[in-house]
Amino acid sequence: MSDLIKQAAVDLAGSDNVVVLTGAGISVESGIPPFRGKGGVWERVDPMEYATIDAFMRDPGRVWDVLVREMKNCIDRSRPNDAHYGLATLEKMGIVKTVITQNVDGLHQAAGSTDVIEFHGNFAWLRCMECGQREETRKIAMAEIPPRCSCGGILRPEVIFFGEQIPTAALMRSEQIASRCDIMLVVGTSAVVQPAAYMPVVAKNSGARVIEINPERTPLTASTSDYLVQGKAGKVMRKLVEEIERLR
Ligand code: NAD
Repeated sequence: MSDLIKQAAVDLAGSDNVVVLTGAGISVESGIPPFRGKGGVWERVDPMEYATIDAFMRDPGRVWDVLVREMKNCIDRSRPNDAHYGLATLEKMGIVKTVITQNVDGLHQAAGSTDVIEFHGNFAWLRCMECGQREETRKIAMAEIPPRCSCGGILRPEVIFFGEQIPTAALMRSEQIASRCDIMLVVGTSAVVQPAAYMPVVAKNSGARVIEINPERTPLTASTSDYLVQGKAGKVMRKLVEEIERLR
């Protein structure tokens, strides 16, 4: 086991106020590709053409066809991995208080985490752009793209596209808990999407330690993190939880 995993286990085992920030990388081992990095969706799809609210409003069918349908297929097939389960275990042990996630896949809740702040919404629901009716995504057949509400309006996912505002309550609570935690654990995010990437900076400026888990370095690694545990989230979290259980 690497010395940094042992170090992280000691740090985490000694805290009862850890806040976690997660990104697309934590769900890669669940079969959902990230946006950036190796194998990321952006290698094939231009984000400005498909992931902005302007693009969606201009041509919802095209965005559904190229980006949203694929996300739905991946999310429908996905199950939590050891990283999601590990964070839920740390919550049960009284170490992790809250998970702030940029993900829209619902896998933290499926693994058993009970306090999850979803910065970018959740793909589990669609909303009619005409009448506001909400529909469960898994119940909507994809025979027609874009899918439509019974009123004829186009259904959009309840996720935040680039160019849309983060829900104010989620943002305010995240800033508050980031400024009060002992440790911020940052798992599987490229830390380039704001304002999520700012939360570890808030934590650091308020005196917290910042621990990253990621196979790659990020902009936080040199500027903000105390250390980076380099590796895949599922594998690292499995070892980390085993070590914390041994220490307690
Ligand atoms: P990102 O796509 O920008 O970056 C992914 C990060 O994960 C990279 O730093 C990469 O090195 C790391 N990574 C890759 N494999 C990993 C693994 N096995 N374990 C740990 N880390 C790994 O992701 P982001 O920073 O979350 O920002 C992208 C935006 O895309 C988010 O706002 C999110 O809403 C959205 N998104 C969500 C999902 C999802 O819900 N699962 C999937 C793709 C994109």
